[in-house]
Amino acid sequence: MARRTRGIRAVWLVAVAATMLAGQACAGEGSGGTGSETVATSSPAVDTTTLAGDVRAAIEESERYWTEQLSKRGITFEPVRQVIPYTSAGEVTCGSEPMQSNNAAYCSAGDFIAFDAAWAQQGYDKIGDAFIYYLLGHEYAHAIQVRLGGQYQYTIEQELQADCMAGAMLGDAVRNGRLELEDGDIQELQRGLIAVADQPGQPWFAEGSHGTAEQRNEAFFAGYDGSLDACKL
Ligand SMILES: [Zn+2]
Repeated sequence: MARRTRGIRAVWLVAVAATMLAGQACAGEGSGGTGSETVATSSPAVDTTTLAGDVRAAIEESERYWTEQLSKRGITFEPVRQVIPYTSAGEVTCGSEPMQSNNAAYCSAGDFIAFDAAWAQQGYDKIGDAFIYYLLGHEYAHAIQVRLGGQYQYTIEQELQADCMAGAMLGDAVRNGRLELEDGDIQELQRGLIAVADQPGQPWFAEGSHGTAEQRNEAFFAGYDGSLDACKL
């Protein structure tokens, strides 16, 4: 994906973890697929030819989108406090829970998003840059769910809604011309959703279930092709 315009503000802090109360983690394991060529152009603000630049652009687009959407509901948007790449398991803790390798999560206890930098780089290299926009969009959606006080009976409801919300955010950014789709980006998004899907046989109602590849694709593209209305937020 390429950036066309500057974001409104950035939260990009590399920091050690906050250790507070219990949090909420979100796993997405594995990153399969083969790479495809995407050539991103850089903007004056953010260089979207690097993982760090794409992470920052995804966060800025999320902030812009959620500022607008929450304002429609009369809610003042509060950005996530920090975005933290980590290099080893346990380097960052969410409450008392150490963050694991091959993962990304929103931690409500510290109000931060953290991700395994090597795992994200692998997804970026093997799947493509669009995967990073999905991943950060999904984690940012969890922060919005918490801000709106969402209640969920099963984790899969929360996860598929976050996929839908990430889709709504990205679809809006593309339609508004803020992000430009490059050849292969849609396929990268599809492959990314397959890569983070539950293993076959995982019960949908199990704690920690995120959805099958089909469910995750369906949820994401319902938001992407439609709007936030599809997400039942
Ligand atoms: Zn999640």
